[in-house]
Amino acid sequence: MNKYQDLPSVDALLKHSGAQKLISKAGRELVIQLIRKVLQDARVAFKHEKNLPTNDEIIQRTHELLKNWLSPTLVSVINATGVILHTNLGRAPLSQATIQAMHEITSGYSNLEFDLRKGRRGKRSIHPEQILKRLISVESALVVNNNAAAVLLVLSALARRQHVIISRTQLIEIGGGFRVPDVMRQSGAKLVSIGTTNRVHLHDYETALREPAALVLCAHHSNFRIIGFASEPPLKEITSLAHQAGIPIVHDLGSGALLDTEQYGLAHEPTVQESLKAGADIICFSGDKLLGGPQAGIIVGKAEYLSKIKKHPLARAVRADKLCLAGITATLFHYLKGEALQKLPVWHMISTTKAEINRRAQNWKKMLGAGELIKGESKVGGGSLPGESLQTTLLALSVRKPNYFMAKLRAQPAPVIARVENDLVVFDPRTVLPEQEEILIEKIRSLLNEVK
Ligand SMILES: *Cc1c(COP(=O)(O)O)cnc(C)c1O
Repeated sequence: MNKYQDLPSVDALLKHSGAQKLISKAGRELVIQLIRKVLQDARVAFKHEKNLPTNDEIIQRTHELLKNWLSPTLVSVINATGVILHTNLGRAPLSQATIQAMHEITSGYSNLEFDLRKGRRGKRSIHPEQILKRLISVESALVVNNNAAAVLLVLSALARRQHVIISRTQLIEIGGGFRVPDVMRQSGAKLVSIGTTNRVHLHDYETALREPAALVLCAHHSNFRIIGFASEPPLKEITSLAHQAGIPIVHDLGSGALLDTEQYGLAHEPTVQESLKAGADIICFSGDKLLGGPQAGIIVGKAEYLSKIKKHPLARAVRADKLCLAGITATLFHYLKGEALQKLPVWHMISTTKAEINRRAQNWKKMLGAGELIKGESKVGGGSLPGESLQTTLLALSVRKPNYFMAKLRAQPAPVIARVENDLVVFDPRTVLPEQEEILIEKIRSLLNEVK
């Protein structure tokens, strides 16, 4: 063939046995669309190459294109980075019971907004609210799409066109476009910033509280730490001042731990219970950070404020779906049953002992028959506990081109995300799920053979 008019027609190609197979897999319309695309590309290529593909080649290319078109870009990966709440890798992996609950609720109909007793319309907010009330003794609760939405909703409902007092030490950016001052402006609240970048005193709050304000916002620093000459008064003292002035405190906790991180050799991460005890009126936190559940924003606190928040039009715009509500509820059940450490992957990873990690790393080395074990650090991530780390044992590989090796690990199905440290490719057992271990080692082995 030497003229592009010599290319076969779509009709002729459809009679090819390979094309028939593709049609049985993906339907006629899509196959025709892709054959047209392959033919078009062949015409363009002909201008430079003066060469036309055979019918077999065209069908083969159509097959490749079809595989590509039908592959999701969102895939599961093996996280060997040792960062437990890796925002780029989807934060918290879910517990089996959570996955099961989400599966059940979405495979059919549910009483999402239906009161089974009265046989009429109900409220979706009651599902997570009931368990949150039992778990942390709050008056009321609302679950929305994520914590950024939670903060925006709370400020919009309670502080539009009014003053919100916040310390300059807390005018933070947590990444992904969430900047506290911008969110405040977006809600229509007027920002009253007090103190300085490094320090804020109780008397700063006292002075500000002499003017009318809708609320005081306290935001957790999340992903950074001020060291040196820095201080903030305890939340308890701020709340008692604000309450004397008749003004509520909203605490954006960020990560929202329900368990104490200190038991695992980490610094203290403020918990929801402590914030309640210190008198915060409204607390917002994420579902998929230290809570260890699906993406969500959880708002808990006093009923008088929550009822206003629930009625705000934005509440409808940022409401959580049934998948999220089922997942959050199932995750919270683990806390109620006192089994969060064992059942929630995030907490299981945090609480895995040095000895256990070392044993797994030893086992990896034995399975692989290569590499060295070195000491390293895992991180909690997810905007919690900045600068803190958990001791770990890493499997380290010395390869000629570490970044090339990493790229190869990412390029295959079930991609592996590892780290390079001092020119070594390192794998942290802490964040690799037990059922992924064998696949991981197999992948490393075959890649080592390939690059040798
Ligand atoms: C993470 C975080 C948020 C945003 O939460 P998302 O669930 O990611 O939307 C808001 N505030 C603080 C302090 C955070 O740490």
